[in-house]
Amino acid sequence: MAKKEIDRRFNKFGTVSFMGVSKTNDFIDYLEQGKVMGTRCKACGKAFFPPRSDCFHSLTSEMEWFEVTGTGTLLTFSTLRYAPVGFEGDLPYTIAVVDYGDYKVFGRIDKAIASPDEELKVGMSMKVVAGKTANGQDIYFFQKA
Ligand SMILES: [Zn+2]
Repeated sequence: MAKKEIDRRFNKFGTVSFMGVSKTNDFIDYLEQGKVMGTRCKACGKAFFPPRSDCFHSLTSEMEWFEVTGTGTLLTFSTLRYAPVGFEGDLPYTIAVVDYGDYKVFGRIDKAIASPDEELKVGMSMKVVAGKTANGQDIYFFQKA
């Protein structure tokens, strides 16, 4: 029996990766190139973030990649002072949801924003950028646009 090749690219993502094998592992290659990508269904045009390899609407796997570019609107954010196991070293950090119209992006606020509760306002324009965690893992985060 041939040895099954396991695609572990998502192990390079974030502080702790819970992804095993994914059909959307190209996400990590794009992130290393500085691109934050979602997928769009070729049949109905629905956009997905995080990227999905299948469209629940069209029941097809005919998807294409698109880059999350431009600005979105900050919908909500929250600064965490307690974290799940594995994330304690990152505290405090701020998570947010940014609305890009066709889709929403969930992620972290850039640590360069030192006082998120004072500097951020719901409704403001944000952009997403690719970057690295303190220990060199791939990640994306939000900055003020
Ligand atoms: Zn579709």
